Amino acid sequence: MIVEIITTGSELLLGQIVNTNVVWMARHLNEIGFDVCYQTTVGDNRARMKEAVSHALTRADIVITSGGLGPTRGDITKEVCAEVFGRSLSLDEEYADWLKAGFKKRERAFTENNLRQAMIPDGAKIIYNHAGTAPGIVLEDGDGKVIINLPGPPHEMRDMFTRSVVPYLAERFGIDAVIISRVLDTFGIGESKLETEIQDLVLAQKNPTLALLVRPTGNIIRITAKARTEDDARALIAPVESEIRARVGEYIYGVDDEPMEEIVGAMLKSRGLTIAAAESCTGGLFTSRMTDVAGSSSYVRGGIVSYTNEVKRDALGVKQEDLDAYGAVSEEVAREMAEGVRAKIGASIGVGITGNAGPSASEGKPVGLVYIAVSGVRSTVVTRNIFTGSRSQIKLSASQAAMNMVRKYLMDER
Ligand code: ATP
Repeated sequence: MIVEIITTGSELLLGQIVNTNVVWMARHLNEIGFDVCYQTTVGDNRARMKEAVSHALTRADIVITSGGLGPTRGDITKEVCAEVFGRSLSLDEEYADWLKAGFKKRERAFTENNLRQAMIPDGAKIIYNHAGTAPGIVLEDGDGKVIINLPGPPHEMRDMFTRSVVPYLAERFGIDAVIISRVLDTFGIGESKLETEIQDLVLAQKNPTLALLVRPTGNIIRITAKARTEDDARALIAPVESEIRARVGEYIYGVDDEPMEEIVGAMLKSRGLTIAAAESCTGGLFTSRMTDVAGSSSYVRGGIVSYTNEVKRDALGVKQEDLDAYGAVSEEVAREMAEGVRAKIGASIGVGITGNAGPSASEGKPVGLVYIAVSGVRSTVVTRNIFTGSRSQIKLSASQAAMNMVRKYLMDER
């Protein structure tokens, strides 16, 4: 099926607005298997619009317009398209009543020109507008050509497109219209290593497709499948997901962008455990993120931001001789911070984070070097990490790594 998109509006021709509608529609039409072979933009001029629509119908099966469906006299797209198919317009009482009810509900005055929006070409299918007032229109002629009119405001156009146009096209042309994505969230594996591990899958796949995306909280793998039904799409995704898990499963901490703090929070909650953190370079970010989760008061006991050596020593019990011998950014100090905060606050799990977030080296320790310790009844584990990026990126990575360590610690405890 060949599609032509016609975006209407003189503002587009004057360069006053960016034509985001054509980009959005083209992308979504291609995703569901339609070839967008032509894109035309025309102003609010009756003769030129009529010429554009007529010409489009000579080379495309489906013509989709955006814009010019509003209540004012300058909005002519619907009339022009009806004229091309030789249809007249008449008032659709049902749509008029729906419009009036909507105005009443929002306590807005209904003016007569709004009725222009309830003027519907004979034989058209009406697409109700759940984000605005102008209806969308589907017009079919006897020879299998279709014109679809959508409004110009992007949120109205998008809502109608996904809610009504895709199901219409699916039913009318029998296409794979369901698109489902599954996201695998990873942490601790760099983009290039991840790419190397799954490159053959990325290259081999057409449906589902695989995409790697870089996020500050860890790289993600998105698996996207197209099928007739949701179940069919999920069945296409499942074996690909299994294959990816077999290769890089140790780095996958969650799915579908569930934040790490929710995952860790749920683990603590289900085991009846509590947590407390002593934070230096993250300045409280770890605890702040943990408390972004509703209900976190049942497992977050508290925390200490021990930014200076004195606070590390006096509030947490870190030994002065260790601070002198190893420096604040060291495995020993991270360990003592985690154990100290766990004891002082009385939590099941203690976390210690100490590092150099930059922008310059200090105590001879490079930018991005962060030691993280997690302490529980069983043991204390410490990792040495080098993070890159700006100061705030290093802080975010450190908080994410610390949560991931807690997650692994709890998993190992099982
Ligand atoms: P309304 O009922 O608001 O009059 P309409 O269907 O008549 O809607 P237009 O008047 O053509 O649509 O456009 C309304 C607004 O929608 C424009 O001012 C612009 O902000 C936005 N818009 C229209 N066409 C596009 C487009 N192709 N890309 C991005 N935005 C658009």
